Amino acid sequence: MAQKPKRTKSGSAWMHEHVTDPYVKKAQMDGYRSRAAYKLLEIDARDRLLKPGMTVVDLGAAPGSWCQVAVQKLKRQGRVLAIDLLPVAPMPGVESLEGDFTQASALTWLEDRLQSGRVDLVLSDMAPNISGVGLRDQARHYELCELALDFAVHWLKPDGAFLVKVFQGVGFEDFRRQMQAAFTQVAIRKPDASRDRSSEVYLLGRSPRVNTDSAVTSASEQV
Ligand code: SAM
Repeated sequence: MAQKPKRTKSGSAWMHEHVTDPYVKKAQMDGYRSRAAYKLLEIDARDRLLKPGMTVVDLGAAPGSWCQVAVQKLKRQGRVLAIDLLPVAPMPGVESLEGDFTQASALTWLEDRLQSGRVDLVLSDMAPNISGVGLRDQARHYELCELALDFAVHWLKPDGAFLVKVFQGVGFEDFRRQMQAAFTQVAIRKPDASRDRSSEVYLLGRSPRVNTDSAVTSASEQV
């Protein structure tokens, strides 16, 4: 029997979901720049990642709702360094770069700000623009995840943590193994604010296995 063609979500169906989404409404009421804020809030409520005085690096930060959450939780004590291809509108307590994390210039920007200081928490909510070719999109996504992981293991404090958005499917198990090799503890989180139909989950790595004291290298060595 011939298979029915797969239905794609029409623009109006997407718009209907968007305007009826309780997290979208809540974000508007609470003043968050996007519904993604609730994913980090929920993970933080469980895992206690964000504390005053921390240095946090937020990769794929635009429009900036994770930055908002980080600034609130840090209570203005500490630093938030944010990078995105898109601009993050200015926010007190956040230093941001409109740039491509895959480029050496982004690492240099971070390195210049961190100097020899270490990072308590690396967040990566990066997701590449979808080309529509599933395998290619998945591969590009995991390239970003691997670069973020590489940054995290080089810059995290010994008790630091790395939270990264991944999509289940091709490449997931391989990346999870890389996380397990890099961190003492690795957990999977699927916050309620992450849509059920999405294969998106977050991997949380804690306590890097490497001795970070000798691990920091220059941006040029990392690229
Ligand atoms: N966490 C954000 C928030 O709370 O507002 C939402 C992040 S959004 C889901 C994913 C972001 O990843 C996009 O803004 C996109 O521009 C960014 N991104 C994708 N590839 C990137 C790259 N190579 N370098 C920097 N940012 C990138």
